[in-house]
Amino acid sequence: MKNKQFKAESKRLLDLMINSIYTNKEIFLRELLSNASDAIDKLYYRSLTDRKVKVEKDDLFIKIKLDKENNTLTVSDNGCGMNEEELEENLGTIAQSGTLLFKEENKNKDMDIIGQFGVGFYSAFMVSDKIEVVSRKFGEDKAYKWESSGASGYSIGETSKDSVGTDVILHLKKDDENEDYSKYLDTFTIEGLVKKYSDYIKYPIKMDVEHKELKKGSKDEYDVHVHEETLNSMVPLWKRDKKEVKDEDYERFYMDKFYDYEKPLRTINTKVEGQCTYNSLLFIPARAPYDYYTKDYEKGLELYSNGVLIMEKCADLLPDYFSFVKGLVDTPDVSLNISREMLQQDRQVRIIAKNIETKIKKELETMLEEKREDYEKFFKTFGIQLKFGIYNGYGANKDTLKDLIMFYSSEEKKLVTLKEYVARMKEGQENIYYACGETTDKIDLLPQVEAVKDKGYEILYLTEYVDEFALQVLMDYEGKKFVNVSSEKLDLDTEEEKEELKKNNDDNKDMFKAMKDALKDDVKDVRFTRRLKTHPVCLTTEGGVSVEMEKVINAMPTDEKVKAETVLEINQNHPIVGKLKDLYKNDKESFEKYSKILYAQARLIEGLPIDNPTEISNLVCEIISK
Ligand code: ADP
Repeated sequence: MKNKQFKAESKRLLDLMINSIYTNKEIFLRELLSNASDAIDKLYYRSLTDRKVKVEKDDLFIKIKLDKENNTLTVSDNGCGMNEEELEENLGTIAQSGTLLFKEENKNKDMDIIGQFGVGFYSAFMVSDKIEVVSRKFGEDKAYKWESSGASGYSIGETSKDSVGTDVILHLKKDDENEDYSKYLDTFTIEGLVKKYSDYIKYPIKMDVEHKELKKGSKDEYDVHVHEETLNSMVPLWKRDKKEVKDEDYERFYMDKFYDYEKPLRTINTKVEGQCTYNSLLFIPARAPYDYYTKDYEKGLELYSNGVLIMEKCADLLPDYFSFVKGLVDTPDVSLNISREMLQQDRQVRIIAKNIETKIKKELETMLEEKREDYEKFFKTFGIQLKFGIYNGYGANKDTLKDLIMFYSSEEKKLVTLKEYVARMKEGQENIYYACGETTDKIDLLPQVEAVKDKGYEILYLTEYVDEFALQVLMDYEGKKFVNVSSEKLDLDTEEEKEELKKNNDDNKDMFKAMKDALKDDVKDVRFTRRLKTHPVCLTTEGGVSVEMEKVINAMPTDEKVKAETVLEINQNHPIVGKLKDLYKNDKESFEKYSKILYAQARLIEGLPIDNPTEISNLVCEIISK
């Protein structure tokens, strides 16, 4: 046996490796199984190109052996194996990847080999005190053993091995307060890890599994049988021929994998080759996970590299506004050992993310067109996320999302898209009208809504607090501006009507000034309006902040407080006007009281609090008792 030191850089790297690259110790098994699979691939590939190399595909497999007595876990393969130099080259130098070399030498050939980074093997030191690698190269008689207890170095010597291939024998660490290493000797744990990370390794991963059976006629004595079982399902659903896979297969897969008891609304299965190569299998759930609208929810897709799981939730693959999408991406273009930070900068990942976004958008559009009911169900569950998407990022994504959002409308109280609204606008209609409130019924009762509806215009009913903010960011749709029916910008009167209103307002200027004073400047102005039909008063806002936005912003736990600039508007055709004029002339004290009551009414209708409810209540009683 020759004893050797790792090269200096290797030593440091090994340390780094063991202590920091992987946060998750359990992935060592994934790395060893991937190496074994690569080794088999190499041999199989040679058999296809070299007639002297004879292997039957059915004879190729990986085996995991758990030995509780000796505290070892062994991963064996009957792949290409390594001779002395190769052991030295590949395992004596960290970050030396024989696999990468092989890949480069065999470029452009149809292969999907996993390794290429040259560090995966060493992750086994996270769980082992000592590792032995016994290997016999294909076509050679001699076998060699590489052995190492970590950073101190390694030794290589001759040994014997009956068959071609490699055994990697891990001598597991002793359990300590931080980690339970003995669990890796438990068949149940290993079955779980293989399912989780390596289910789609394309060669069978076998293991002996014990089965207990009650002895005939006994209540507590068991017969123990040992069966060799294949732990992995080998061909991933998303790589199977689409024609072979039934809708139910996808649905069951989704429900099992993402713990949902409802079928997904939509399944999107894509295969892309070219600039980057990947398979993706995406699902649009029918209901929101219980934590979806909390900050605990983590978006992301599973990321696989050639069927091996790299990351359970790769957030970079999904924009926030599509965070409800579940699923996975499988691509040979990212390496197994990539870290989160590196992934963020990975060009391939960015390209895939962009493609996926486009794909999801298209799918939603198709659903909207072809399966309206499904889309509405979807929108009621996740629509708010899309509206946030428009609002966040100062509208950077508004073009992606503007045709996907919906609002209730005065027409049928059903959801409509902006496109549909604009398509059925009245001739000559310049603006898209909307009104805000807690529910569609409450909005229906708003005084400002009545008159606009009466003129034959459709109104969008905004019931979600993000709605108005989203519309503000959108600014317009196909050139049509959004106008709140409660805002000064509502302009439905003819020139003549405007003229008449202006005159009427001018004539009563002093009275309005007196009202404004009585209200202690709570309102910016008081005036007549034509926007009301049967109701006596309403509040109109001037400037960018509406009453609804004031409520939302002030309810947030920040110091930012805003106040909508409101105008008290009075229906010039309402009988109350005569009464006001009379009091203004003859009874200033009552005039002030009436002003206060009218203002309080307007606030109540808008769902705003009244500063002095007792005073108002007393005033009302006083008038009733007269
Ligand atoms: P990677 O797999 O990313 O190349 P590793 O550190 O996991 O890096 O492995 C280093 C090299 O050792 C591999 O590239 C391969 O050449 C060789 N190797 C590892 N395990 C085996 C195995 N079971 N059979 C044959 N060669 C192996």
